[in-house]
Amino acid sequence: MQRTVLVTGGAGYIGSHTCKALAEAGFHPVALDNLVHGHKWSVKWGPLEHGDTRESDAILRIIDSYSPIAVIHFAAFAYVGESVSNPQKYYDNNIVGTLGLLDAMLRSEIDKLIFSSTCATYGVPRGGAIQETQPQDPINPYGRSKLIVEQILRDFDSAYKLRSIALRYFNAAGADPDCEIGESHDPETHLIPLVLDAASGRRQNITVFGNDYDTPDGTCIRDYVHVQDLADAHVGALHYLLDGGASDAFNLGTGVGSSVREVIDAAKLATGRELAVIEGPRRPGDPPSLVAAPGRAREILGWEPKMSDIETIIETSWAWHRSYFGH
Ligand code: UDP
Repeated sequence: MQRTVLVTGGAGYIGSHTCKALAEAGFHPVALDNLVHGHKWSVKWGPLEHGDTRESDAILRIIDSYSPIAVIHFAAFAYVGESVSNPQKYYDNNIVGTLGLLDAMLRSEIDKLIFSSTCATYGVPRGGAIQETQPQDPINPYGRSKLIVEQILRDFDSAYKLRSIALRYFNAAGADPDCEIGESHDPETHLIPLVLDAASGRRQNITVFGNDYDTPDGTCIRDYVHVQDLADAHVGALHYLLDGGASDAFNLGTGVGSSVREVIDAAKLATGRELAVIEGPRRPGDPPSLVAAPGRAREILGWEPKMSDIETIIETSWAWHRSYFGH
């Protein structure tokens, strides 16, 4: 029997890589996406259903026709800056949208959900690697929308026995090593694709947002994790729930941070191109360092990042960048 999994946001960056990982693990992914930010071309491992998680009757019809055994929920807006200027859009899509999906799940008695959460739920870290037990105190509406959903999921477990795993990603990066899919945001705000745009001449330079942080080279440190490793973690979390595992939350990071300058240097090396670097002011809301304590996901889900060294992340991103933009 086909083991179908409904993947909301399945046409997005992490969602599409997870659909591929699901298919390789023997599952049948059905992507549900409103295609606001997702791409039709990234849905290759199962059908695409065009729809919005806020429309719970429509979701219910999709669930009825595919009978999924679980849902992986990526569909959300994820631009921090936009969430500050337009919080209504974020609370509506990310929270009301999740409630629509949960309503359809309760009505169809699907009781397993994997939720795409974020290290942005921690806010400004207290120092050191971030453990799951660290207080969650987000500093922007995007992070708050994800934290509220985590809390909703805990209440739905207590009240309705809906089991869920929240996966708190650190900095998703890299691309499918087979180059079938990769990162493509519009607008693009993330460091690695912007650095590669500068390397390929699609933009003239890259601006370092702040060089006076209290870090070894003065630039911000982030824990970059390869999107394929993230995708594998979702498959691991799915197996965990299918085997009867309890609701939980896990950090997905490597425990190793890279500074903005280290990323730029690695990109110069991988691309063999010179980059024009501008030293700019700090970007408001950027904590100096965000690095995961990744132990629990290893211990409980058996998750081991395999491609998350910065060199592999940049090499796979560069290969994708060249095939996508054709240079
Ligand atoms: N960054 C930068 N220049 C850019 C874009 C990002 O210096 O043009 C820095 C940013 O300040 C942060 C890091 O790169 O310290 C990663 O930023 P990104 O937006 O990729 O991810 P975030 O950490 O915000 O989720």
